[in-house]
Amino acid sequence: MSLVNQSIVQANSGLKAKKFSALELTEACLREIEGHNSRINAYVTVTKKDALESARQVDKKIASGESIGMLEGIPMAIKDIINVQGIRTTCGSPGLRDFVSPYDATVVSKLKHAGMVLLGKTNCDEFACGSSTEHSCFGPTRNPRDETRVAGGSSGGSAAAVAKNMAFYALGTDTGGSIREPASFCGIPGLKVTYGRVSRFGVTAMASSWDTVGHFARTVEDLAHVLKEIAGHDVYDSTTSQVKVPDYTALLTGSVSGLRIGVPKEYFEGAIDPEVKETVWRAIRQLETMGALVQEISLPMTRYAVALYYILTPAELSANLARFDGIRFGSKPTNEADDLVDYYFKQRAQGFGDEIKRRIMIGTYVLSAGYYDAYYSKAQKVRTKIIQEFDEAFKEVDVICSPVAPMPAFKIGEKTQDPLAMYLADAMTIPINTAGIPALAVPCGETKSGLPIGLQIMGPQFEEGRVLLVGDALEKRIKA
Ligand code: GLN
Repeated sequence: MSLVNQSIVQANSGLKAKKFSALELTEACLREIEGHNSRINAYVTVTKKDALESARQVDKKIASGESIGMLEGIPMAIKDIINVQGIRTTCGSPGLRDFVSPYDATVVSKLKHAGMVLLGKTNCDEFACGSSTEHSCFGPTRNPRDETRVAGGSSGGSAAAVAKNMAFYALGTDTGGSIREPASFCGIPGLKVTYGRVSRFGVTAMASSWDTVGHFARTVEDLAHVLKEIAGHDVYDSTTSQVKVPDYTALLTGSVSGLRIGVPKEYFEGAIDPEVKETVWRAIRQLETMGALVQEISLPMTRYAVALYYILTPAELSANLARFDGIRFGSKPTNEADDLVDYYFKQRAQGFGDEIKRRIMIGTYVLSAGYYDAYYSKAQKVRTKIIQEFDEAFKEVDVICSPVAPMPAFKIGEKTQDPLAMYLADAMTIPINTAGIPALAVPCGETKSGLPIGLQIMGPQFEEGRVLLVGDALEKRIKA
């Protein structure tokens, strides 16, 4: 094992035992970034000087004999829609290339307090809209396992950074699959938390009733350690919950004995890659041999999830993006405008990429008088039905397992001309955000050509501990 491909837990014990310093750890990650980032394009901003300085501070603390926390001195990365004071937040958008954040997001202040070493900000689809990190003004992120393929999206830069040993863990956001899908494509674990579990203060809003902040790491146990630091109520985000934050690592008992696993048949039907189906089933059978009780369930409303998502989230997005008008936020048009309307035409044309323009048009359409009832309010009702369906299912089973995505990582450019094909990559992750429940993506095998495949483990609201327990047990079994 090299310095850079350890888990957080291993790196922490190495730091404590003075086997290496935080500075050495950070320099090793920076060397990986220097060696790979020009091809992989995981980072859009590298904060080398600050990273080295934070590492030195931790080393001083260790040298003085003080004890250190789990995340202290551990190099990490942050998706570029999350604000870090004094560093630019571009959201992958041409209109925000030079926007420097005047304040820290709550997750960032929490991690600063926990002693993070920030290596930089990672590439993402513009305003987190996409499944491949191809809709970024910085160009696509490449999949470390096969550089002709996408890393997934929209948090593709964060996933690739962790998978390529350019960071130990990374923050992302998940509105419809943006942590789980790239985690699955890059072969690492990634957690989407319950809506309201982690503060979104200081995180650029995509669709406010769906957005969640979560993270990637190299092991499920590491995910649990990071979650402990970032979860909890925040006075600056009124959607955060008062539900107590448990000690997630203490919940990783390794035992799935007697645990009831529901397998929804709808997630294995339709256009699903046969290798994905087979590998995911093998993982579920493995959990069964470990003592879990597997039963088939049915979630028939699942088939409406993608359709309602592409009504409700563009509606919210179109409202949220109104502030990027070049007056409040975002750049002004380069050419002179004749009047205010002309100003907006020019500003919007230059400030946003094609996918964002498409979604603003859909969003304003479904909210407009005459269409609101037919689309927006109908979709809200279907959303309630999906929530109820999950509530019912969790009366019968403890967790639900499915594939993360219907296919492994696809080729760069393969779906950019076909938005609907791109949207369907999230068919299995979107229902989870619709219901606001937590779900973990954990690697469970590979295709014959070596592309990673992820298992999705869903739990009831605020049961992150339960999905982490199942993922951790499976991960350890697979690695054993
Ligand atoms: N791929 C989905 C979309 O484009 C999900 C995005 C996300 O989770 N941020 O909307």
